[in-house]
Amino acid sequence: MPATRVPFQDLPLQIRNLRPEIDAALQAVLAHGEFILGPEVAIFERQWAEFCHVTHAVGVGSGTDALHLVLRALGIGAGDEVITVANTFIATAEAISYAGAKPVLVDCRIEDYLIDPAAVAAAITPRTRAIIPVHLYGQPADMNTLAALAQKNGLALIEDAAQAHDAAMADGRVCGSLGLAAAFSFYPAKNLGAFGDGGAVTTRDEPLVRQLRLLRNWGSVVKYHHEVQGFNSRLDTLQAAVLSAKLRHLADWNDARRTAAGWYRSALAGCPGLVLPVEAPWTGRHAYHLFVVRLPGRDRDSVARELASRGVQTVVHYPVPIHLQKAYADLGLRQGAFPCAEAAACTILSLPMFPEITQSQVAYVADSLRAVLAG
Ligand SMILES: *Cc1c(COP(=O)(O)O)cnc(C)c1O
Repeated sequence: MPATRVPFQDLPLQIRNLRPEIDAALQAVLAHGEFILGPEVAIFERQWAEFCHVTHAVGVGSGTDALHLVLRALGIGAGDEVITVANTFIATAEAISYAGAKPVLVDCRIEDYLIDPAAVAAAITPRTRAIIPVHLYGQPADMNTLAALAQKNGLALIEDAAQAHDAAMADGRVCGSLGLAAAFSFYPAKNLGAFGDGGAVTTRDEPLVRQLRLLRNWGSVVKYHHEVQGFNSRLDTLQAAVLSAKLRHLADWNDARRTAAGWYRSALAGCPGLVLPVEAPWTGRHAYHLFVVRLPGRDRDSVARELASRGVQTVVHYPVPIHLQKAYADLGLRQGAFPCAEAAACTILSLPMFPEITQSQVAYVADSLRAVLAG
């Protein structure tokens, strides 16, 4: 393999830049030793709730658990249906399965890869209890239409905001505040990432908060007294300390991602055979977790290989939609069920995107991609 000229992302660089702040945060936790639900967890929860313009955040073990525990806390389970989109990370569907409910998949819009509200409307049955839109790649789903649909049908609207820290609608409302509850992931590679797994639920619903605090801690608030059967899924104190330190930089990092997206757009404008990401009319602030282009009519995998041979790392998010995964064969859905999700899976490519990416790195990626597509 040739040397990497542009990595897909560069977490070690980000951590080198923050080392003194991170070290201080970690040292404080090591000094008091309250590694589980220590004071830094409540501090971060308050900061994260404020950042998301809601009253509460509940730290949990991962983004997957955030989704799972919200469904449990709402009493959604066996016999219930939850609608989500076919082109997401598998965790969205698995959280529904963990709760005992059935994931009902629908197609996305090909323009922006976001869940199609018309398809959601068509999938609602008397068993439907909730809709989980995914703010894919950092762009809010069509939450105005989905909220109206949820309201009309008495359904819980739960955001999968794992890729959308600080994304916002055109009217300024931020992801994490747009439904009954939202699930965030702090997996290291997300826009706000811990040094391991972590997640949070944001909501304004007090009874839900109480239930989530029980469920994440074996059903107990008072030690050794268990009100319900729960789980072991807390946000670690060390991770909360890291997240508070990194949160101070999140808005600037997302600005830098948007700047990089702008560089890509000008460098790749008019490139034949290439479809750039589209910002939907309702989007106010795209978080550019990923910068995903589409290469219709091309052999995407060979383009990715040629880019790799020029030292450019790319990834596909995601190559197989949920309904075509072996893990979900029991849904009984075949090729052709969701044409847009399937078309996207075959043609999308995520280009390097991280806050520290330089203009010359973006130029190198764009030049390489133009050369590969022309060749
Ligand atoms: C990362 C991610 C998750 C899962 O989060 P974890 O913290 O890794 O469990 C769920 N949904 C989407 C869309 C994601 O990108």
